[in-house]
Amino acid sequence: MSDNTMTLRYRNSFLREVEENVEAGQWVRMCMQCGVCSGSCPLGPHWDHPPQEIFMMIRANKREEVLGSSSMWMCTSCYNCIARCPRELPITHIMHGLAHYASKLGLVPKNQQTQKFAQKFWDNLYKTGRVNELRLGLSLYFMNGFVNGIKTSLKMQKVGLGMLKTKRMNPFEFFSGHSCKDSKGLQAALKKAREIEEAKTAKFQNV
Ligand code: SF4
Ligand code: SF4
Repeated sequence: MSDNTMTLRYRNSFLREVEENVEAGQWVRMCMQCGVCSGSCPLGPHWDHPPQEIFMMIRANKREEVLGSSSMWMCTSCYNCIARCPRELPITHIMHGLAHYASKLGLVPKNQQTQKFAQKFWDNLYKTGRVNELRLGLSLYFMNGFVNGIKTSLKMQKVGLGMLKTKRMNPFEFFSGHSCKDSKGLQAALKKAREIEEAKTAKFQNV
């Protein structure tokens, strides 16, 4: 087989890409398309593609449709599907793995709220190793723009004042907050993990 033919075959194999890059992706080929997961998923009927369909599309090489789908971002980790799958596929993990992989490749649909939330949470956590709840809450209020942020803040002002009164919220924590013992070490470990993942992904981005 020539190098070109081999490259072409490699390029066309989205299943292989999933197996090598997505958490629990090696399980996708075990799916027998019985549809139990989709029938058990409380939200699946409202998605573009419930899990069984996603797995079928992966095997049909529908890379853009799968990675650009919002379906896996809607998974609430209820584990209904895992509990019922006759082949015991870790469906929830695959759904989250696909979402994570799509995010790394920059293929998430625009304005995907779950992804925005996940990014805010990660940014908040990354610097100190601990979540600053006040800062996270405010950044979520303003996640969809300044005007929306003001509207949400006004809507929530009673709750905020109540929390202040009962000392459940300390406004000074916005600037201070807690951090883990070795936040620099944590950042170095995360940076290394990212470099390893990026090197692994790069070969698929360029094909
Ligand atoms: S329940 Fe399991 S085997 Fe059946 S379609 Fe879903 S993932 Fe595939
Ligand atoms: S874990 Fe996710 S995919 Fe599975 S049934 Fe629940 S919402 Fe649906």
